[in-house]
Amino acid sequence: MTDEPIPLHVSGIHKKFGDTEVLRGISLEAHKGDVITLIGASGSGKSTFLRCLNLLERPDSGEISVHGESIRFRMTRRGREPADRSQLERIRTRLAMVFQNFNLWAHMTLLDNVIEAPIYVRGVPRKAAREQGMALLERVGLTERAHAYPAQLSGGQQQRGAIARALAMDPEVMLFDEPTSALDPELVGDVLEVMRELAAEGRTMVVVTHEMDFARDVSNHVMYLHKGQVEEQGNPAEVLSHPESERLRQFLAPRG
Ligand code: ADP
Ligand code: MG
Repeated sequence: MTDEPIPLHVSGIHKKFGDTEVLRGISLEAHKGDVITLIGASGSGKSTFLRCLNLLERPDSGEISVHGESIRFRMTRRGREPADRSQLERIRTRLAMVFQNFNLWAHMTLLDNVIEAPIYVRGVPRKAAREQGMALLERVGLTERAHAYPAQLSGGQQQRGAIARALAMDPEVMLFDEPTSALDPELVGDVLEVMRELAAEGRTMVVVTHEMDFARDVSNHVMYLHKGQVEEQGNPAEVLSHPESERLRQFLAPRG
């Protein structure tokens, strides 16, 4: 046992939009090397929860701590806000997010996308950043496309590029929001393969996905969300093969 702080500890997250409470007390604990998958019907709150973790949305209540550092909030007229901008920046660099729609910067080459944050946030010298960036692009199989612009890449290549960009900051935890949902079916495999490799290397990951094979084979914990609450969770092999909740059973049933 070591005393290393755990990468991500979240408890009791609540979030309302207007009068609708879309998150009703969600907690999650990710230890080093954990791969946690979040599943659930559209509208169950998966994206909102993920966005609350890196404060793209402000949770109304609940605690978030990243590598032992608890996010500090203060009350304003608009609600609870992060109290400390420099802490917010630090937390964001530790929690890299990969979105459904890739979100690469369109006016930059792939390599420039990857080296932007290391250079401008971390102050890495350009030459070192380029070398590191090329190594990351090699890992995701995109060496040849380094100088292409996002519009010249397939969706799968863009998503692998977005993963390389996230890796460039060596994040504590990687958050993925349905990273393969916008892809043509034949491009899904390459992206999942990159994610499998990251998991095998011991990266801590929280992944919203509809890929049940990925959840079963790669993650070590699955959480089923229903209307902003965790309805069932546990070991993926057990939960996905023998769900206790009738709702989860229906969710998993093959749709015709
Ligand atoms: P999921 O990712 O599981 O499909 P979301 O987190 O996107 O679910 O959405 C959960 C609920 O919150 C939905 O009812 C959605 O309409 C609502 N919602 C999400 N974002 C906003 C927003 N910015 N303003 C108002 N309602 C929102
Ligand atoms: Mg979503």
